[in-house]
Amino acid sequence: MTVAPTRAVRLMHHDASERPFIVIWEVTRACQLVCTHCRADAIRARNPFELTTDEGRRLLDDLASFGSPRPLVVLTGGDPFERPDLPELVAHGTGLGLSMALSPSVTDRLTRPVLVELHNAGAKAVSLSLDGATAESHDSFRGVDGVFDATLEAARTVSDVGLRLQINTTVTRGNVHELPAMLQTVLKMGAALWSVFFLVPTGRGKLLEPLTAAEEEEVLHWLHDVSTLVAIKTTEAPHYRRIAIQRSGVRALDDVFPVGPLRSRLRLDTAGLLTGHEPPRRPRPPIDVNSGRGFAFVDHVGAVYPSGFLPTAVGSVRHQSFPDIYRGSGLLQELRDPDALGGRCGQCEFRTVCGGSRSHAYATTGDPLAEDPSCLYQPLLTRGVGLAGE
Ligand code: SF4
Repeated sequence: MTVAPTRAVRLMHHDASERPFIVIWEVTRACQLVCTHCRADAIRARNPFELTTDEGRRLLDDLASFGSPRPLVVLTGGDPFERPDLPELVAHGTGLGLSMALSPSVTDRLTRPVLVELHNAGAKAVSLSLDGATAESHDSFRGVDGVFDATLEAARTVSDVGLRLQINTTVTRGNVHELPAMLQTVLKMGAALWSVFFLVPTGRGKLLEPLTAAEEEEVLHWLHDVSTLVAIKTTEAPHYRRIAIQRSGVRALDDVFPVGPLRSRLRLDTAGLLTGHEPPRRPRPPIDVNSGRGFAFVDHVGAVYPSGFLPTAVGSVRHQSFPDIYRGSGLLQELRDPDALGGRCGQCEFRTVCGGSRSHAYATTGDPLAEDPSCLYQPLLTRGVGLAGE
């Protein structure tokens, strides 16, 4: 038994087993920052075995070969601005009809002339990280003093040159109480999208403390509350879609989803914002994409993964075309099959539209198909309850 998706969730307009909705390419691991949560364990110097410019162009050719609608492409790192051929890669992808976005680190390399050059090359959007509400907390997260102020300045420049701004925030137990203040900053920056990432203990992120499942549930409800202020997307918390569906059409939300201490505090700190913005925008429904199901990650040497936080390579674009890997990988096929999931996720009525964070499952159990331990939900089946009409 499964819950049919509602308008509370956006569905992909194509078959996710045929083509991805979005592909993230880690063009380099080099980066001058030393962020405490870094997935990539980024290093100062570029790896000589990175995909070359020609290999990168071929990868983009491969991505364009999926045809329309072509996948969105995000060039990330490390710091993608460490690659001198970045404008060439962006121009090549744009010329093929790909929508190209960038996820740079805030360093001296992120300057107005470089952003103008990338915009002229066709880049559409830039995402910047904000992991603390103050210089003290953000800079200690990023490992370098001055990055907070530089991020505020970079956000202004990104918008000034005509690029769409996205802000990425990694939530941990250390900064969760700063979320309302970070939201204020996101609103002041005029960001088009706030992407909230729920820490997966991998890379240097192993040293940080993720939220408990109960805390994550509270934060996801709060995010849905404030999604009338800015478009919100979650990363590695697909059960945000379950929450969006559960809440849709419910009038007495607090009766159905009692407010716990964490959400209560987040709400209190956001009260002024929620009443100060009239009329509220309609929340942007989260899109139904998950690891290997509409989403894939290519690392700096060409290995393909279901996600950047799920370190199980399924092939290399040095040996196989990206479409062949995406369509043919046994693991990706399993990840796309909701009935292959284990534990609560395998029994869950939301599995077709959620499916759980495969990265959290893998980081905790070593099995990418295991239940997602970061989700609190007890499926109806495990409670001996049937769905209405079944
Ligand atoms: S139990 Fe699994 S499939 Fe169900 S809502 Fe939670 S994470 Fe999603």
